[in-house]
Amino acid sequence: MATGKTMKVGVLGAGTMGNGIAHVFAQSGFDVTLIDVSADILQKALATIEKNLNRQVKKGALDEAGRDAALKRIETATDLKGVSGAEIVIEAVPEDETLKADIFRKLDELAPKSAILASNTSSIPITRLAAHTSRPENVIGMHFMNPVPMMQLIEVVRGLATSDETADTVVKMSGDLGKTPVVVNDSPGFVSNRVLMPMINEAVYCLHEGVGSAEAIDQVMKLGMNHPLGPLALADLIGLDTCLFILEVLHNDLGEDKYRPCPLLRKHVDAGWLGRKTARGFYSYES
Ligand code: NAD
Repeated sequence: MATGKTMKVGVLGAGTMGNGIAHVFAQSGFDVTLIDVSADILQKALATIEKNLNRQVKKGALDEAGRDAALKRIETATDLKGVSGAEIVIEAVPEDETLKADIFRKLDELAPKSAILASNTSSIPITRLAAHTSRPENVIGMHFMNPVPMMQLIEVVRGLATSDETADTVVKMSGDLGKTPVVVNDSPGFVSNRVLMPMINEAVYCLHEGVGSAEAIDQVMKLGMNHPLGPLALADLIGLDTCLFILEVLHNDLGEDKYRPCPLLRKHVDAGWLGRKTARGFYSYES
């Protein structure tokens, strides 16, 4: 397998996370194939990447030649066969285990036998996703944070069968992306969402029970705990459907009532108020 920036990368899912992941790989010199279900979604993702690269140029963090080169390194595809030349695939489709299991079975058939299959899942055990493939030693969690171009951490999640070679490659690659990898062991929600989601859920319960307005709850956590973003604004950024999916994994897999998703979160998802991506969540983003 090639190493370092000569590696070819497939990114599956061009939503909130997928477009950010494609952005940082391309900016770091990797060739990327970005795959989603429609040309429309891919067009939107490319426009978002260009907008975010332009923002970096404006700030002086990137020059125009770097921006143009990054954009040139991204090709798009609407067919999973786009992973046929990839040495590593990062899966970033919605947090739905049935969907991800199906994707991992297909990736196992379509990606080269030596390719690493990484998931950006926020909570679903890597060991279970790996079990749908014939190469569990090559399966790993590569959990980027949102917004990907700005956040330093990659939570690298080792499944039960993940090999040292796979983990070492992903740790090195995270460094090549200018990120800091932290390796943890597989468990529902890993470390990040095992700690974060109960806080977000409790904030939604506070809103549900009328303990405070959304603004008041977020202000308390920002001014009192020094959080850069309040938990409800953060939930809107993550996506309320994603938060609900993660809490369901924690609740079902760890079996404790403390992870029970707040009914108000479920109501927002039922209404299609998913946060920033639909311009309405706990806050409105119409303007
Ligand atoms: P999203 O809904 O914004 O994007 C998902 C994308 O996947 C969509 O563009 C959708 O069209 C595409 N998709 C669906 N089915 C597909 C298929 N069969 N083939 C190819 N593409 C398909 O979701 P997101 O917020 O980007 O989350 C993606 C993953 O990243 C989830 O597992 C989530 O838990 C994880 N994650 C999310 C965040 C966050 O803050 N949003 C942070 C870390 C990790």
